[in-house]
This record gives sequence, structure tokens and C-alpha cells, in this order.
Amino acid sequence: MQDDPRDMLAECLSGIAETLRHHRDLGVRQIQLSHEPFPDPGDALREQERALQGCTHCKLCGSRSTIVFGSGSGRARLMVVGEGPGEEEDRQGKPFVGRAGQLLTKMLASVGFDRERDCYIANVVKCRPERNRNPEPDEVAACNPFLTAQLDTIRPSVILALGNFAAQTLIGTKEGITKLRGKVYTYRSSVLVPTFHPAFLLRNPGQEYRRMAWDDLKLARREFERLTS
Ligand code: URA
Repeated sequence: MQDDPRDMLAECLSGIAETLRHHRDLGVRQIQLSHEPFPDPGDALREQERALQGCTHCKLCGSRSTIVFGSGSGRARLMVVGEGPGEEEDRQGKPFVGRAGQLLTKMLASVGFDRERDCYIANVVKCRPERNRNPEPDEVAACNPFLTAQLDTIRPSVILALGNFAAQTLIGTKEGITKLRGKVYTYRSSVLVPTFHPAFLLRNPGQEYRRMAWDDLKLARREFERLTS
């Protein structure tokens, strides 16, 4: 915590400078100068999605049918970050619409979140790796500015990071999800809660992992209440 308002202002300005540089590097052409103090984040997200069309920053452009940018409310206070689109997501252009997505929808609902109304959902990589292989480090790095721009636009109170790739990318560690989960982390101005990926829970249907995921979801809900009410 900083007490000196000059430090706070300097941090805000450096955040704005960083966001502007990101947007320039992403190819965003318009800067929205608005009389509104808080322009609609949905507009900013749509502009980022437009700028991403036809992306060839990494080799995943060769295997995708559709870029899966993200979905949900730009004003959401909870952002969910997954790994990368699967077959169904690649077909529909929306994240988490396959079997793992159905489980995610139920997991969110179990702690009172409606995925369309309360959440914004995106992935670490926006294009499907062939045969659902893990994204490679150069692919994660190439897509990282797009995820960062989404996070900077939404500035969620809570980020739910699903699985190794999301948690490791956002926390900046090589530690596995089993070690990372059960605790909260800070990502810029957000609180980050890591948990198991729903696809992992589908592959490992035992009660033990489900119980841990349930604890993580309750932790995310408590942090959400603390920060938003
Ligand atoms: N798994 C993910 O990580 N993301 C999706 O969008 C779908 C499945």
C-alpha cells in the first residue's frame, strides 16, 4: 500500500502508458477519447478482438478454424482464465462450450456466479493447438499481450485461473497447480485464485480433487464478496 498520492498517481500513469503501448503493439488503431470518465470496456474488448483477426503471431494460426477471443460481460468483476480452445470452442468461436465448459458453468453456478452475467471468460492462447496438445512456450508468449490487454481492460476484482497454464502464466512460476491452489495471489490490482482445470476434473473423477476445487471456488466467492460489497 502506498500512502503518498504522488506515488499512486505515478503508478496510475505508468499503467496507462503500459496499456497504450500494448494496444499499439497489438495493432489497435483507435484510441477512444471519450467524455465519459469510464468508457464501456465492451467497446475496448471488441476493438481488441477486431485487431486480432487474421493473427499470425505464432504457429497456432495454422491449426485453428476460429480465433476464440473471449466471452461474457466487459463489466464482470470475475474473470476466468483457461488454457486454450478445444475442438468445440474452435468450431463455435466461444471459450468453454464443450464438456469442460459445461462443468465450468456448473462449478461457477455452485457458488452463485452466472457465467454470462457475472463473468468474463478467456484463455491463455486464443487458437486451438492441434489435437488439444499443450500450448508451447513461444505460443503462450505470443498470445500473452492479448490476455494482458483483456485483463487490463476488465480489471476484475477476482481472477479464477484454471489449471497449470493459466496459473503459471499469470503468477509467473513453474510450480504445479496442486501446490499453487488453496491460496490467493495478487495479479496487478486483482486477487488471483488458482484451481484445477475442469478438463482435469473430468479426467480424474475422484472426490478428492472435486473437494479441493469446491474449496477453491468458495475461496474465490469469499474474495469476490470482500472486494465488491
Ligand atoms: N479448455 C480450455 O482451457 N479452454 C476452453 O475454452 C475450453 C477447454
